Amino acid sequence: MDEIRLQKAIANSGVTSRRKAEQLITEGRVKVNGKTITELGTKVTAGDDVEVDGVPITKEEKVYILYYKPVGEISSVEDESDRKTVISKFKALDKRLYPVGRLDYDTSGILLLTNDGEFTQYMTHPKYEISKTYRVKVKGILKRHEQKMMAEGIMLEDGKTAPATVNVVRDKKDKNMIVDVTIHEGRNRQVRRMFEHFDLEILKLTRIGYDFLTLEGLSEGDHRFLKPHEVKKLI
Ligand code: URA
Repeated sequence: MDEIRLQKAIANSGVTSRRKAEQLITEGRVKVNGKTITELGTKVTAGDDVEVDGVPITKEEKVYILYYKPVGEISSVEDESDRKTVISKFKALDKRLYPVGRLDYDTSGILLLTNDGEFTQYMTHPKYEISKTYRVKVKGILKRHEQKMMAEGIMLEDGKTAPATVNVVRDKKDKNMIVDVTIHEGRNRQVRRMFEHFDLEILKLTRIGYDFLTLEGLSEGDHRFLKPHEVKKLI
């Protein structure tokens, strides 16, 4: 039988990410065949009984959902003040789903949901530089030289942004400007802060691209399951 590291077995089960699983192990919260294990190198096989906080892990079928997040949902599993979360709609699936990264409450667009901890860790690791494209409706004008500055990188309070792709989609005097910005980072409120840098307010922000994935065929609030070949292509 194939042996895998304990933290990988826990992450594979969908309980949490591999990094969090390591923490659970070192905190003494994991038992293998009834014995508490705190050693990170420990290997297990499919025949071993693994428990986290006394609850056996089960090998849940992996699901990958492309969700067109609407404005007005928070990107977490639970909310202290009972606001609608991006998971609320999927309760009936009875899977331990969580969002891959996050979108602001006021942002709509592509958000992946999964119960695969390893996938999440991979997709959100800065090293892999997944490209994300945002369609931005701007109050005011992002001037030519500002577009160039944004593309080259601008200094925000948490450091200089990496080069971005900036494409003007609509630039008409009587209408709000629309710009597509592609970034490879995932800093908190990054796109809003990039526009604030030029004293510009964002009226609408939608993530329209995530690596090769788009919103094609979906309306706000819709979802679809990723196909196995799409999941393979992402990782
Ligand atoms: N950048 C933002 O400012 N907000 C998001 O939700 C995503 C990227």
